Amino acid sequence: MQPGGAPAPSCGGVPRNKVVKRGLSRRSFLVAGLGAGTAALAGWATRPDSVLFNGKILTMGSREREVEALALAGSRVFAIGTSSEMLALAPRRARRVDLGGRRVTPGFNDAHSHPCDSGVALLTQVALEMDSIEAIKAAIHAKAAATAPGGWVVGFLYDDTKTPRSLERSDLDAAAPDHPVVVQHRGGHTAFVNSRALALAGVTESSPDPAHGEYFRGAAGQHNGRVAEKAAEAILTLAVKPPSREDYRRGAALIAKQFASRGITSACEADGNPAILQGYQDARDGGELAGRFYTHIDFAEFEKMSDAGVHTGFGDEWVRVGAVKLFADGSISERTALLSEPYAGLGDYRGISRASRETLYEQARKAYLAGWQIGTHANGDVAIDTILGVYEQLQRESPRRDPRLRIEHCTLVTPELVRRIRAAGVIPLPFAGYVYFHGEKMPYYGEERLKHMFAMRDFLDAGIKAAPGSDYTASPAEPMLWLRSEVTRTDARGRTWGANQRISVEEAIRCSTVNGAYASFEEGIKGTLEPGQLADLVVWDHDLLTMDPASFLTVKPERTMLGGRWVFEA
Ligand SMILES: [Zn+2]
Repeated sequence: MQPGGAPAPSCGGVPRNKVVKRGLSRRSFLVAGLGAGTAALAGWATRPDSVLFNGKILTMGSREREVEALALAGSRVFAIGTSSEMLALAPRRARRVDLGGRRVTPGFNDAHSHPCDSGVALLTQVALEMDSIEAIKAAIHAKAAATAPGGWVVGFLYDDTKTPRSLERSDLDAAAPDHPVVVQHRGGHTAFVNSRALALAGVTESSPDPAHGEYFRGAAGQHNGRVAEKAAEAILTLAVKPPSREDYRRGAALIAKQFASRGITSACEADGNPAILQGYQDARDGGELAGRFYTHIDFAEFEKMSDAGVHTGFGDEWVRVGAVKLFADGSISERTALLSEPYAGLGDYRGISRASRETLYEQARKAYLAGWQIGTHANGDVAIDTILGVYEQLQRESPRRDPRLRIEHCTLVTPELVRRIRAAGVIPLPFAGYVYFHGEKMPYYGEERLKHMFAMRDFLDAGIKAAPGSDYTASPAEPMLWLRSEVTRTDARGRTWGANQRISVEEAIRCSTVNGAYASFEEGIKGTLEPGQLADLVVWDHDLLTMDPASFLTVKPERTMLGGRWVFEA
């Protein structure tokens, strides 16, 4: 690609000016300000300031599926059409970028992830994305050596099914005998702790499990160091000191840059609070936020924002207030989701509830009546049934136009749940990459159940606007891994899970662009490359639409554009 390079002829050998004439005299191209719904733009731009041409641009729009070129004005798409049309439209001084025939898509939207906290963790904790217990012990030992005796050592990105066996309390005791250690599972619902950590938390062998939490035990009945849900939360509260304002700013900036390098230009921050919101704002004010963040607010913090007159939608295209976040159950990757039938091979164990229906109803009602969108974490069919019942009840009691209530993850469904989700206009936010990335956990659910998990085909067939997410750090924020998973439904070892839920490449891209924008009420400004929309796009080094999906992991962004500016160049 040659920014500012000379326009190249395209269109299969037809002389250029002839194409322009014909193009213009027939249907012509689409221009902002002329098309429906874009009148508001006519006032600010009458001519484009740059043109991207000679590409295969998948617009995801309703009128033109694919075009060769885009004309941009400021942060927005001004017009779309053939290369010759767009080049003819551009004034002499406009920037011209030859896309070299590359595939372009709208920027991807990670519709459920935890970017800011992950960014802060990258700055302050030990990253344990490793498949060897010895390597993990060595990393913890090294961190402990650099930490004052008695100080907490905190790890993250660990995954117990990626190591030959699960990390145990004795491993962590050996690695750091003089420090309390807590290693967070990358899924965020369980952790692995050593004896000092348990002692500091006041947990003895005779301590009962806390409500909505569990201390796991080994064969001899002793704590083995694995703790889940509320039990993990209590220890993490002791271990992780609240990040500073500066930590949040740096974390937000760091992760936004990483996301942009993978083709993600928008994300939903699925577990935010006012401090995280401020982190994004600070990064944005500092000119270092290379992404757009729709920030959910934890229930515990939403009322003070509500009292100030803030609700879902407040903000702008960079940083916006999202839904009130509630939790109904546990996690899929950590096997704590609340299921109607037991996990395979785990006796009668069916997962963990995180809140009663009464609590969920009271919380959801407060948020709903205050005008907020609600995003409830619910993975298992039991948890989904419960929160859906709450949503149905609220809409019956106090009908509200287009509340777009969300079920975060919404993993295990039934045909009846899908019907109710559709009827209630609820948006599911399924895991995009789990079949591929977490394949080794799938046997806990089994083939039969997998036919109804991450049920993209069922959602799309029912007309439901499902918007997938990575839940990063729970799985990688990698659009090509999402597509690989959703299109093939095979895991990294080649085993297929729920082939009936396969969707096409183009459907998968639509779900992570158009539907992602819909889930945050922003389909009017992004998700498609149509006149008037934000110029958020990715130039890929391979053509996703013509290659073998099994090779998607080799595909990389060459360039990522955010609001008309390149924010990543390989
Ligand atoms: Zn999450």
